[in-house]
Amino acid sequence: MDQANPGKIQKLDELAAEYQRVAQAYVDWQIQQEMRQPDKYGDTPAAEISTLLSARWQRCAWQHACGIVQSWYSNGRKNPPILQNVCIQANANVVVIEPSRSPHFDFWLRISTLEAGSPVRLPITLYERAKEALAQFPKLCSGVTLNRREDGWYATFVVERKGPKAKSNRIVGVDIGMAAMVCTSEGQRYGQVSAELRCRVERAAQKRRRKQKLNACLKRKNKPTVRLSDHRAEAFARNEIGRALNQMLDELPEDANLALERLSVRNMRMRSHQMNRALRASQLGYVRDKLKFKLDERGIRYRSVQPAYSSQQCSQCGFTFSMNRRSQAEFDCLWCGLKANADVNAAQNIAERFGDAELNALTYREVEAVLAVRFMRRLPVARSATAGLELQPEGWLPRGRAVAAKPLAMLSPPTVNQPGQHPCHSCL
Ligand SMILES: [Zn+2]
Repeated sequence: MDQANPGKIQKLDELAAEYQRVAQAYVDWQIQQEMRQPDKYGDTPAAEISTLLSARWQRCAWQHACGIVQSWYSNGRKNPPILQNVCIQANANVVVIEPSRSPHFDFWLRISTLEAGSPVRLPITLYERAKEALAQFPKLCSGVTLNRREDGWYATFVVERKGPKAKSNRIVGVDIGMAAMVCTSEGQRYGQVSAELRCRVERAAQKRRRKQKLNACLKRKNKPTVRLSDHRAEAFARNEIGRALNQMLDELPEDANLALERLSVRNMRMRSHQMNRALRASQLGYVRDKLKFKLDERGIRYRSVQPAYSSQQCSQCGFTFSMNRRSQAEFDCLWCGLKANADVNAAQNIAERFGDAELNALTYREVEAVLAVRFMRRLPVARSATAGLELQPEGWLPRGRAVAAKPLAMLSPPTVNQPGQHPCHSCL
């Protein structure tokens, strides 16, 4: 990058200094919190570590710190890591690689700086070795690493190199939810609702309520009403959704087929519960439609499957019961004891249903009975009169909790007949 002018280099140096400071602060913070597996997409401690970096740069610094902390823990090191070399790990949100039209250099790097809206463009010349690699594998990945050495700045690119063909027809289930926008059966979660999004959504909801009141007034006076939609809040949410989906698609195994939920607005409402205000039912629909659009764009095969009770069904033993799902986040099978992230469990059920013609032909309500019958058939002791009772430790029902949960999934485990503890359909 020796052809860049000094003013641009100065801006890059300023950015690097702040990035370095913040990345170090994140590392220290994660170690202080003993985060052995820090979440790359989790919230950053924005309140504790204030910075001039944009939210996108903060995310880069955070992910950088996560990598350092994770390897620090897994190598069992004692001395806390100190970032010494000036190194920036940038993604496509902050650094864009643009082709050059000049014969004197090969690419432009457009880098966002500390000053919002005024990126710098730096010219890049490739080494011969890099040119050869690029000739062989012409597809560049979007991430760039920037290093400052004694004689100036260097950029490292990564090329996409197709490995041996992955196992074909691998099916990945996708759960569109609220805690994370999308979650795959491989256990990856994308698009956690950030503190900022939550805050914006809260504000948008308040604004909407005020507008509703205003409209009620205006109507009484026979005057034209105002629009309820809030374009800015929506645009922000949609931007976040787009980013989460791209991330998911980038990390999808090659040759994967996707199983998606066939969502209807009705069950969307049921599922969206807590975050409903965030991305109303229509936004959940938006996530699904956008995902389909992107899948078509990339030529990835998908199928929509019947999602009924997928959040209450155990992906290991098939037991379906509303109280298997203790909270929005946890799945805890009351039959076999499987503990899992609730969204991951649901995504695994959705993947299972990819080729399940019987289930996919049913309506939402009919699924319940079929799942119950299937579970019973799988029980080795299904025909024994005391089936189930001996298999389960005492007190397997959550004690002290009202059993009158919503009658959503209703297979009761066979033969638990203590009064007041019977969770079966007919007693509810
Ligand atoms: Zn189970």
